[in-house]
Amino acid sequence: MDITKLEKILRAENQPKYRLEQIRKAIFNYGISSFLDISTISLALRKRLDGEMKILSFDVEKVLVASNGQSAKALFKLRDGNFIESVLISPKPGIWSVCISCQVGCAMGCKFCATGKIGFKRNLTAEEITDQILFWRQYLKRQESKNLLAASPTSHVTNVVFMGMGEPFLNWKNVSQSIKILTDKNLFGFSSRSISVSTCGIVGGVKEMAKEFPQVNLAISLHFADDEKRNAYMPINKKENLGILKKALQEYFKIAKRKVFLEYIMLENINDSKEDAKMLADYIKSIGFSHLLHVNLIRYNLVHEDFRSSSKSKIYAFKKELGKYKVNSTIRKSLGEEIKGACGQLAVH
Ligand code: SF4
Repeated sequence: MDITKLEKILRAENQPKYRLEQIRKAIFNYGISSFLDISTISLALRKRLDGEMKILSFDVEKVLVASNGQSAKALFKLRDGNFIESVLISPKPGIWSVCISCQVGCAMGCKFCATGKIGFKRNLTAEEITDQILFWRQYLKRQESKNLLAASPTSHVTNVVFMGMGEPFLNWKNVSQSIKILTDKNLFGFSSRSISVSTCGIVGGVKEMAKEFPQVNLAISLHFADDEKRNAYMPINKKENLGILKKALQEYFKIAKRKVFLEYIMLENINDSKEDAKMLADYIKSIGFSHLLHVNLIRYNLVHEDFRSSSKSKIYAFKKELGKYKVNSTIRKSLGEEIKGACGQLAVH
């Protein structure tokens, strides 16, 4: 929501200062979806605000909800006609995590990713980024009022992950601004630790994160632990290879001293062998902060005919192999596949 515009209208109306606070609370704390529903202000002002501005910076085209109620995906139409997607997931009761987009499309062109196939269109503004969370806050409130929160008893968004469409470090100005808005106690009020930023390995961004937001979680979409394979599937590696990424992570650990998650999608016969597990373990050891690195093994969600997910047994065997080398890993539960909202599937369907 455009707070500056709201302030301007209230000033022009000679409203007392506490009016902004009342409206802010209604929208950010209570998830009110329309100015007309803010009962703490006069009907005349509600109508004026409703006529002058909108709470969200996009229109909601559709919301798909998975049959188990644990995930939902929304398609938003931006004011310039572009589309983006955002996903709400409840991995366990009490947690609602929102996966947000930071760009329309993505320039990185990772071969296995649906967003990468679209190519880059434009960066999202900080308002367009944070409004995705505002929308899900409104959505959960509406579900709560209809007693439809089967998957989780809480109606609050608890976590935010920059893992949707786009590469956060290629839109750092707006992404960093949006993190400031998300952690502003007068607005969203998230703790830094409940926010995660995921990158395909833009090393300049890793350094920025350490300096600006050492408490925000960092995840690296690694997926391959040898340069030859990474070059073939992730073009970023030709510019900033595993050696360069390693140095950036070493610097990061010296400053942030926080756990970093290495995302690893399991691709059949591509990166799921015992040798791949050994290469991953060796790479982690070579970084030198093994206790601060955690591998998330992710089942591949079909978006491309050239790739298939490794079987369940292969994923377990890979995890076991990593265990032999004392590498910590988790097999991530795949949610949202049915609604094409799982990892790597966001492509404005
Ligand atoms: S995986 Fe991430 S960085 Fe790579 S193309 Fe997809 S959205 Fe972009």
